[in-house]
Amino acid sequence: GKAPLFRAALIPLETEGHLMVWDLHHIISDGVSMEVLMRDWSALYQGEELEAPRIQYKDYAVWQQSESRRKAMEKQEGYWMQRFADGVPVLELPTDFPRPPEQTFDGETVSHQIEMNLNRELQRLAREEGVTLYMLLLAAYHVLLSKYSGQDDIVIGTAVAGRPHADLEQVVGMFVNTLALRHQSRPEESFRDFLARVRKQVVQAQEHGDYPFEELVERLELPRDLSRTPLFSTMFILQNTEQTKVHNFSLDRSFYPLNHKVAKYDLTLIVETGNRLSIHWEYNTSLFRRETVEQMGHGLTYLLEQLVYEPSRTLKDFQLLREDQQKQAWLLSTPEGDRPRAETLHGLFEQRVEQMPQKTALIAGKRRFSYEELNRQANRLAHFLRKQGVGVDQPVGLVMDRTPEMIIGILAVLKAGGAYVPIDPDYPEERKRFILKDSRSEHVLTGEPEWVPESFVGKVWVYRELDFTGLPVDNPDPVNREKDLSYIIYTSGSTGRPKGVMVEHRNVLRLVGTDRLPLEIDEREIWVQCHSFCFDVSVWEIFGSLGNGASLVLATKEEILDPERFRHLLYSEKVTVLCQTPSAFMSLMNLERTQPKADLFVQKLLFAGEALIPSTLQFWQSRYPQMSLFNLYGPTEIGIYATCRKLTDSDLIQNTSHIGVPLPSLRACILDRHGNLLPPGVPGELHIMGTGVTRGYLNRPELTDERFVERDFAPGERMYRTGDLVRQLPDGGLEYLGRLDDQLKVRGHRVEPGEIQAYLLECDFVMDAVVLPRQINKGTNELVAYIVTDGRDWSVKGLRKYLASKLPDYMIPSYFVALESLPLTPNGKVDHRALPEPTEQLVRESPYEKPV
Ligand code: AMP
Ligand code: MG
Repeated sequence: GKAPLFRAALIPLETEGHLMVWDLHHIISDGVSMEVLMRDWSALYQGEELEAPRIQYKDYAVWQQSESRRKAMEKQEGYWMQRFADGVPVLELPTDFPRPPEQTFDGETVSHQIEMNLNRELQRLAREEGVTLYMLLLAAYHVLLSKYSGQDDIVIGTAVAGRPHADLEQVVGMFVNTLALRHQSRPEESFRDFLARVRKQVVQAQEHGDYPFEELVERLELPRDLSRTPLFSTMFILQNTEQTKVHNFSLDRSFYPLNHKVAKYDLTLIVETGNRLSIHWEYNTSLFRRETVEQMGHGLTYLLEQLVYEPSRTLKDFQLLREDQQKQAWLLSTPEGDRPRAETLHGLFEQRVEQMPQKTALIAGKRRFSYEELNRQANRLAHFLRKQGVGVDQPVGLVMDRTPEMIIGILAVLKAGGAYVPIDPDYPEERKRFILKDSRSEHVLTGEPEWVPESFVGKVWVYRELDFTGLPVDNPDPVNREKDLSYIIYTSGSTGRPKGVMVEHRNVLRLVGTDRLPLEIDEREIWVQCHSFCFDVSVWEIFGSLGNGASLVLATKEEILDPERFRHLLYSEKVTVLCQTPSAFMSLMNLERTQPKADLFVQKLLFAGEALIPSTLQFWQSRYPQMSLFNLYGPTEIGIYATCRKLTDSDLIQNTSHIGVPLPSLRACILDRHGNLLPPGVPGELHIMGTGVTRGYLNRPELTDERFVERDFAPGERMYRTGDLVRQLPDGGLEYLGRLDDQLKVRGHRVEPGEIQAYLLECDFVMDAVVLPRQINKGTNELVAYIVTDGRDWSVKGLRKYLASKLPDYMIPSYFVALESLPLTPNGKVDHRALPEPTEQLVRESPYEKPV
């Protein structure tokens, strides 16, 4: 019944000779054992007599149990326990496929060579630094892993022969021990300094190298994780082939290549010494693609090349990509950008008026405007505003709801030469006041006088009270250039107050004024305007339609809040282009499941504003297969959209948040935390450059300099650091992986929890506060505020009312949880993971659902 531990067979080969097969269980043998066996067998084969072994494995086993040995092991144990006293860092190598919940062992090997010259230089450096080649390669491997994972504290496994006495070298048995080598590097230190530390630690580890790895794993009581091997997931092994040469055989023999399709770890680096170094990467095929591992091999070789000549370079400055590869790391836009059809947004619109004056531009319930009519009304107001002194780069506050007058207002401010500053009439007074003051708006155009804060000192123009008599209806003389401001949109600010993004005409024209978009939009389309004009998707809806001769349907607030009514609007107005945030679309889709299929005309369904989970669209796609689905990504700072992906059928199954490639006239690259370009597959911060890069934040030069940067590899090129974590997929597109900071999206709205925290802390009874998104009941993200109070009486209702006077409603937390204190991490930050889930007892009031 039991499988034998040792089997041997001699198989005649078809060609010539025989194949000798030994199959040994690792429990009774190791690498050195194989040599011993081979040697003995060869001696016997040649008719020699074998000496009786002086000691046997059982002698070793008895010795292992001895008192003196036990004492020594205790000491060794102390050393290892201390190495992991503060826990075990888990290496998060970026994988090509999601990690299976239970580890698999399917493996492959990729091999390459390190040429003689480089090998010689490595030997030289090792000598000069007083280290072994093993230590040098181990240190280099750590640097490679660190660059790939973005981590500095890494455990690498290694094997030691574990034959502490010369007599043991003749014994067959399992002696090998595994050591878990943990090294911490610092990005600012030189490779040389790091290497010296590695040397010290390897020596120490070897001195304590008899302590059995299995015991360490047991003693550490690590939380069980079936998806990984305990303690480390990668190994480094150096094989001195000189020593493992087969002993004198009188026979012609060679090793039969055996392709082991097994990977014991995620990744094992095996280096065989010789004239050249043979490098073998044994990798888990459930995690990595071959190309990825090959790329790593290139990275290692390049690292070695850099460090042999410049060991004093700081770790953060070592590169993974050679200069010629760096160019490939730039995601060039496809197709190339062209010159937009106009220099200004309103100029683009005016071209269309000229071409199709009678075409319907705007539909709002029963009200309809032809292009000409809309233009005439906008022109009157523009002439009026210009008479009031509005001109180039001058901000004009717009406090309006979604009516034709809002569109007229936007066009008029632009035509007058200024930049519009959208302000939601529902915003709290204080926020309106702040935006008007911060933008230095001298004029406000509004639907209702009470929508404008009383304290506002500039001019307030109430649209319906304006007298346009005598004002011309033709286009005002153009005064703007492409670099003038078109709008200023305020987004949440992490330090407490919102910040205004200054967007120039050209930033948006490269999007709405070109024929090169992968969306194939033309004048036959019917668009629906359903996003707040404080969110730049509205700019896309307005100028994507009116700039391209299409028609625009204005959805009312009621239609937006009620999916049934919205669905009705879509088919009654025959809408063909629909933009949605994934969270808004969810309610439409949930409704869809309860209804028979509708006669929808939508051809292009565009998702934007937050991460899309493509698999959620499968139902929709099977019901309306004629629709093209697009995922559009972009921050306000890049003029609406920066990248685009037309979703394929396999996107919907694979479920990666694919955001595609940069749009025309933009380029993107992915950088690590030190500003180095990263190879495909490795996550880093998305940086975007090109005509979309906006002017920056109004009145916030430091913040602008922090986010709008220049990098050495692209001198003179201004790029925006998005704060988004992405990586390049094999097809060249980008995968969105999340945020690098706390910023989040609540129903598509951009929220900095820091801004909410700042207001909470301004409350006199709140001593400490943190705000986080939490998934409650598997639903969408909800904001949860954890607060520490000074013990005074307080109510959630009161707190909510206070916040409502400061913040838009989507920024008001759904849950409030009072705690004695906030849990902290060792480095003094709030430990998010240690915060309790908002359970019934903790939440002082039931969730507050206020629709947007
Ligand atoms: P906003 O300035 O409001 O457009 O917000 C920009 C941020 O929203 C980006 O930096 C992303 O974090 C997120 N975002 C926008 N579009 C997408 C998308 N298609 N997929 C994932 N995240 C997105
Ligand atoms: Mg955006």
